[in-house]
Amino acid sequence: MNAEILAVGHELLMGEIVDTNSSYIAQQLSGTGITVRWMSHIGDDLDHLSEAFKRGLERSDLVISTGGLGPTSDDLTREAVSNAVGEEMTVDPGILSWLEGVFARRGMEMPPTNIKQATLIPSATSIPNPNGTAPGWWVEKDDHHIVIMPGPPRELKQVWEETVGPRLAEISGSGVTATRTLKTLGLSEGGIDEILSELFGRENPYLGIYAHTDGIHFRMIGRGPDQSAAEKVIEPVEHEIRRLIGGSIWGTDEDTPAGRAASILMDRNQTLAVVEGASSGALASMLHALPERESFFRGALVPGSGPVHIGHEKAPIDEGGAITLAQIARESLSADVGISVTPVDMQDGNVFIGMVSNSGTHVATGRFPRRNPEWLMQRSATTAIVQLMDALSSNRI
Ligand code: ATP
Repeated sequence: MNAEILAVGHELLMGEIVDTNSSYIAQQLSGTGITVRWMSHIGDDLDHLSEAFKRGLERSDLVISTGGLGPTSDDLTREAVSNAVGEEMTVDPGILSWLEGVFARRGMEMPPTNIKQATLIPSATSIPNPNGTAPGWWVEKDDHHIVIMPGPPRELKQVWEETVGPRLAEISGSGVTATRTLKTLGLSEGGIDEILSELFGRENPYLGIYAHTDGIHFRMIGRGPDQSAAEKVIEPVEHEIRRLIGGSIWGTDEDTPAGRAASILMDRNQTLAVVEGASSGALASMLHALPERESFFRGALVPGSGPVHIGHEKAPIDEGGAITLAQIARESLSADVGISVTPVDMQDGNVFIGMVSNSGTHVATGRFPRRNPEWLMQRSATTAIVQLMDALSSNRI
């Protein structure tokens, strides 16, 4: 079965919002046996939208769209689908009374413009949207499917999880899917290909490889008639990857480097302090976002602009200076472990990451192409947390 995804809205074409919905849908479809062949962005224009749905019906078994289901005159997805399949929209009394109920529960009277959100065409059934006022449509026409869903990502996700995903699994005969991600550090894509080449290229389980700022991720997607069967499909591949490169794996699924570093520190009953010249507080806010922060995070020193200068130490920007700064953070905030993120030179994008604890010191280097300061801040914070996790888990500090 092949599919295409249409993301609807002028905001997308103006570059005002980033199309995360299409990636979400494509990710959900990967490994289901439904192949995404095209993705398009279309503005709120009835002719352009109708043409996109018509073309979709000609070349794809499944056309999935998000956006343009609101109550205003520029929300035209329903009208475009009606045009594409040549059917008239009429108000569905069941959806209308549900919609009136939504407004009544909010203590509001339903504006007349919202009535169009209660419409259907003969070949469509309604897709419930418990989070909003815009139900989707599931259209079946001549062995083709059109699925239209709301634009707000929170609404889309719930509509997908509760209705669209399970129904597509049934239609495609793909059953239930289970996924597992293994996150690694210190491997190169070329090296991995050599070691794991036999595991790639299979349909079930599908194995994908993705390079991220926190290392290379392996994503396995297994399919089976039920959840436990789908998980069983993944097991032997996970086992084999662990056997071959287990030493490089630092986490799974939703694990993050910050969470992993925090859990090592808490296991050791140690606390952490930070000084960040290059990342200007980005590392501290990453650590602050962790629910367990109070158990290990002592705080951060963030110098102003210019060369890093804290207390009486005007640190020379070399490896020794990076350690000195980490030591200052550790002592002044009474922590067991200190980390510094220091620009090597204010003009280039290189940073030193100095780390110090009772068990030793370690310095890592981050080399970033010079871009804007915001980008450098985020990248140096991410690199610092990955390096901290690595140094802690390998007992270098
Ligand atoms: P509503 O009833 O809220 O108007 P809708 O289905 O008409 O929903 P849009 O008006 O097209 O959706 O978009 C509403 C909001 O949803 C946008 O302002 C944007 O924040 C978000 N959104 C829409 N499309 C996308 C997309 N492709 N990726 C990420 N966010 C999106």
